[in-house]
Amino acid sequence: MAKKIGAPRGTHDLLPGETAGWEHVEAVARDLSRRYAFERVEIPLFERVELFARGLGESSDAVEKEMFRVGGAAGSEEERAEWALRPEPTAGIVRAYIEHGLHVRPGPLRLWMIGPMFRYDRPQAGRYRQFSQWDVEVLGDPGPAVDAELVELAMRFYAEAGLTDVVAHVNSIGDAACRPGYRQALIDYFGANIERLADDSRRRLEVNPLRVLDDKALAADLADAAPKSTDHLCDACRAHFRAVLDLLDAMGVRHVIDHRLVRGLDYYARTTFEFFVAGREGQQDAVGGGGRYDGLAELLGGRPTPGIGFGLGLDRTVLALEAQGVEPPARVPVVAVVGTGDDHADRLRVAGELRAAGLAVRADTSERKLGKQLEAASKVGARWAVVIGEELAGGEVGLKDLESGDQRQVAIDEVAAAISG
Ligand code: AMP
Repeated sequence: MAKKIGAPRGTHDLLPGETAGWEHVEAVARDLSRRYAFERVEIPLFERVELFARGLGESSDAVEKEMFRVGGAAGSEEERAEWALRPEPTAGIVRAYIEHGLHVRPGPLRLWMIGPMFRYDRPQAGRYRQFSQWDVEVLGDPGPAVDAELVELAMRFYAEAGLTDVVAHVNSIGDAACRPGYRQALIDYFGANIERLADDSRRRLEVNPLRVLDDKALAADLADAAPKSTDHLCDACRAHFRAVLDLLDAMGVRHVIDHRLVRGLDYYARTTFEFFVAGREGQQDAVGGGGRYDGLAELLGGRPTPGIGFGLGLDRTVLALEAQGVEPPARVPVVAVVGTGDDHADRLRVAGELRAAGLAVRADTSERKLGKQLEAASKVGARWAVVIGEELAGGEVGLKDLESGDQRQVAIDEVAAAISG
């Protein structure tokens, strides 16, 4: 036998029997996107490296360490340097917004998408090289009400998915007016404690001191005593943050202020937030996160446009639901269409009619005996069997309850009603 080929490290196949949880969280995300009046967008899985370097910042982990580079068919070094699989969707969405002049549309623009993201990180539990996010972005709304609305939306998503004990961590990292002062305060503070910093953080201190707070290896006492961004906000940023917190209180959204929540990407300004299951609040365990990125459109060559968005991790949400023992909703019952002899045309025709009526139908296309077909139907989890016999001439079939074994004759166009009743 030829040697088997395995899946790439850090990826996971989604197999039959495992999909119910996924379909459930995706359905909740799609339904909320509709109920919150977001419009769907799709962007390429790969973009120019420069888009991420400019948009996310050269010193972000996503660009510095985790960029998943791809080459064209020729695979030259030059091409490999040029393209990368998207590590997150915001830069691509804002690129599309600028490229297609979406600012002329009546705003604010409310966009959503679901799709895979790629980060070439060391795989571990809940950390994959390919993972999926539900992403929403609002462009053209300076807030603060929309900031609170998105936090509330994310919390509603977890609640409707069935996840309990989710806490929203929120922070404000200021804007172009007040961030320089905060950066300097961090440089001074960590500079005085440089011998206690890990190599990565020492290197980052001058380029992106906020990221030092992100460092998982940072000693707790050093982190606790570090300058807080909320103590360095300018009046406008302070008022914005206060308003976000008041709105969250007014909506009854459970949240805590998290001074270490600076987010890894350069483009964030003012409001940042992340979601955790209480008791699992390590940086590795966030089930979602997002924030405001008012400067991003300009960085990418567009006109100044306020923006805010989030990416909720679907893989981690599914894992967290499993950890809490939450059963996904039962699937629609499957109907098996079975028959005798060579009546395959009848089986397929009846199956077609039942499918047109909205039922989920497996037609048995085998040559095996009726009894074997019924056995097989039960084994694959069918709830009902539609048995085709002579009565088909009069438009009737046998409807067999595979749990109780009861069978009765019904008209084909009454099967759907008989099952749901
Ligand atoms: P981030 O932009 O890094 O905050 O990512 C947003 C959300 O995506 C996180 O809160 C996670 O739920 C999820 N996520 C990020 N990276 C990964 C990964 N490598 N594997 C699985 N989920 C991830």
